[in-house]
Amino acid sequence: MSSGLPRTLDQYLRAVRARELSPEEYLTEARGLIERNDPQVRAFLLLRLDAAQSDAQQADVSSPLAGAPIAVKDNIMMAGERCTCGSRILEHYVAPYSATVVRSLLAAGAVIHGKTNCDEFAMGSSTENSAFFPTHNPADLTRVPGGSSGGSTAAVAAGFALGAIGSDTGGSVRQPAAFCGVVGFKPTYGLVSRYGLVAFGSSLDCIGPMTRSVRDAAILMNVMAVHDPRDATSVSRPRVDFEAALQPTLAGKRVGIIRELQGLDVQPEIATAMNMAREAAVKSGASIVEVSLPHILSALPSYYIIAPAECSSNLGRFDGVRYGLHEDGRDMTETYSRTRDAGFGTEVKRRILIGAFVLSAGYYDAYYKKATDVRQLITDELDAAFRSADVLLTPTTPTTAFKLGAVTDPLEMYKADVFTIPANLAGVPAISFPSGKDATGLPIGLQLMGPRWRDADLLSCANVLFTALGGES
Ligand code: GLN
Repeated sequence: MSSGLPRTLDQYLRAVRARELSPEEYLTEARGLIERNDPQVRAFLLLRLDAAQSDAQQADVSSPLAGAPIAVKDNIMMAGERCTCGSRILEHYVAPYSATVVRSLLAAGAVIHGKTNCDEFAMGSSTENSAFFPTHNPADLTRVPGGSSGGSTAAVAAGFALGAIGSDTGGSVRQPAAFCGVVGFKPTYGLVSRYGLVAFGSSLDCIGPMTRSVRDAAILMNVMAVHDPRDATSVSRPRVDFEAALQPTLAGKRVGIIRELQGLDVQPEIATAMNMAREAAVKSGASIVEVSLPHILSALPSYYIIAPAECSSNLGRFDGVRYGLHEDGRDMTETYSRTRDAGFGTEVKRRILIGAFVLSAGYYDAYYKKATDVRQLITDELDAAFRSADVLLTPTTPTTAFKLGAVTDPLEMYKADVFTIPANLAGVPAISFPSGKDATGLPIGLQLMGPRWRDADLLSCANVLFTALGGES
């Protein structure tokens, strides 16, 4: 953004409330950036800038989000707008209703000006699995923004939006946040309604905010965390003010380091960033404790059985009859197979096949059952670790953003999720925050995980570390 304009949502809200800036003026600036730079970045699958301009004109500046432009991942529905999930099968599908989170954002005065690119049905770590085009990392256009919420992250990093919404099934909010140098927060499972999010792995899927600061994530969580009877897994909890809960220090906090992750190969600058974060934590009054999670390295294989199993079941609904693409066949079976063959991309087909295999009668116990047993072990181990640590610190990713087209082996791509997946399996909250740059200037992200329902405390700890390491308060 050009000088004088607010960089964060918090700064925007202050400026608008002080009548130094109008939502319309801000959107005009963001629009200029989008028009100049999105042809290179390609964050958006759909832009509704004219509609957004009139929404901004009518925005209530005393509302919680005061006309701030927020981008929404294209697997989350906004009534009357296309919702493609980055897939050919839904290329022309128009959402018949809005997701609860979209309704909450609009009710709080946000302006939704675009739907963002993503890996097809949120399966991937680079946004290269979008059926339409890859998104480029604004920090280096030759590199991926991460995924699957790569469009949302790139939009925030490029100044196209003051915040964005993504979905995180195995790291899709946190990993791209790390790659693009923004904050990505995956709340406790059940804190933000999944109603209107197109399901991938229903027991893992969470909607979370992506922002330029931790405080901004707290501001959005104040709007997004509402109990919703339309989502049976949404939990009714006493309301928390996530922003008011931000504390200035880590006094008395125990920051845990996970023994079993120590030996993992990470880029040297990421290891250095971890050390700097440890030092910053101690300086701010925390103590460092080591915890052991004996099964944590089995999280990855467990996830890559459970997530495909759930996806093969969830994606069964795309049969060419009720939604989206329809390819005629001689009979029902041929209609299904022609539709699904034409509509789904390679990675989605791979996941459906794996999922159907691990759920099949002869293999259920050997794969699916075993994976869910491992999931329970990891969940129990994490719960135990949170008795001796308030938060756990890890890198978000083993490397910084890789070049577009560089990772072609699916297993290599899956391995990048080693740090993010445990939080999804256990349903605990986790956040990625920027923590410096590597030798080539690419952003590094570190992750903090916290106990279930301690989201406000987790955001507070992350805010202290993020600001201590140079982020905006
Ligand atoms: N990269 C992981 C996968 O491909 C996570 C995706 C996600 O969180 N939606 O499954």
